[in-house]
Amino acid sequence: MLPEKITLADRVLQVPPSPTLAVNAKAKALRAAGADILNFSVGEPDLSTPAHVCEAGKQAIDAGHTRYTPVAGIVELREAICARFRKEHGWEYVPEQVQVSCGGKHGLYNIFQAILNPGDEVLIPAPYWVSYPPMVQLAGGTPVIVPLKEENDFDLDPTALAQYATAKTKAIILNSPSNPTGAVYTRASLEAVAKMAYDHGWLVVSDDMYEELTYAEGKIAHILNIDPRLKEQLVISNGVSKSFAMTGWRIGYSVGPIEVIKAMNKIQSQSTSNPAAPSQYAALAALTGPQDFPAQLREAFLPRRAFFVKALRAIKGVTCVNPMGAFYVFPNFSAYFGKSFQGKTIDGSVALADYFLSEAKVASVPGAAFGADAFIRFSFATSMTVIEKGMERIRLALAALQ
Ligand SMILES: *Cc1c(COP(=O)(O)O)cnc(C)c1O
Repeated sequence: MLPEKITLADRVLQVPPSPTLAVNAKAKALRAAGADILNFSVGEPDLSTPAHVCEAGKQAIDAGHTRYTPVAGIVELREAICARFRKEHGWEYVPEQVQVSCGGKHGLYNIFQAILNPGDEVLIPAPYWVSYPPMVQLAGGTPVIVPLKEENDFDLDPTALAQYATAKTKAIILNSPSNPTGAVYTRASLEAVAKMAYDHGWLVVSDDMYEELTYAEGKIAHILNIDPRLKEQLVISNGVSKSFAMTGWRIGYSVGPIEVIKAMNKIQSQSTSNPAAPSQYAALAALTGPQDFPAQLREAFLPRRAFFVKALRAIKGVTCVNPMGAFYVFPNFSAYFGKSFQGKTIDGSVALADYFLSEAKVASVPGAAFGADAFIRFSFATSMTVIEKGMERIRLALAALQ
């Protein structure tokens, strides 16, 4: 017990406890006890970091890149990010407009710390990535959750956004492809939102973490290409974690207006300083070396995605949007809410995920964690064998509900 005088900070206490904590702890305990748990809760690719990237990390250590680097990251890496943006999109940025951070998550955290004052509102389309609302809250801002519709394939909804926008709206978070829904925003919705953001002077935070993991032909629409005028009020967040299977290396990057990046560097300089030097060299190799890896990931994920969606849709009462990017399916199980097992009622996604874990030995993430309680997220960054086995268990578990 802490002594009475040592209270926790209000800003920590106002962040609600994560709805996944209990389910995660139980999964861990069951696994430790030797249970055969099939794990669909992971948010990282199941392939290893490409060999040439690992080699670059090792070589960096041998070459003595084991000291502090500039706070915003080595200039070679920031130049490589600018070159990549130029080649892929035709965007012109200079290294001073780039901050390399300890993962994409850290970059997003820095963005909100740099721009939010108490009372500032941030529009967050839901289902959202779990960390957006707490990050906004920890920065003193107010998350404003804007529900998206399953029947619109979770596309961005300009009408809903207009309803939730106020004079206090300072920023909007976009995430296409989305974690957890896999949605890729349509050009039409992005056009409407680009106009709103420009007219109202909102900062657009575009989390492009899954940009390279898409299942449609050709490039996906990006709001900056739809309306290049947004360049002065847009920060892009991206990284190598998902597209190069580098989650443990902790390298992400933010690109945007120089004033915002400078403020973020001030925050980073007083908190983490630079991200790990060898990781930066590994990320440099990922961004400048052979570019076939994201395609390999896509190829591995395609048949799993097809099987998963088909198997889920074959279950009575379950609907499932076909994910157009990332590596998650996000089926709607609300038809089963209100049913029960051995006298215990399934009253929402947390109870259902707990039931899947206890009775089917399947670990998943309840939709409540993403602000959408009708759903459950399953990652397909796992083998086809596990997916086939898991789907059979889920089918039987649902059939056993009364
Ligand atoms: C994984 C993820 C990130 C950040 O990942 P890092 O491991 O911190 O680089 C950011 N946004 C979304 C939507 C993600 O799924």
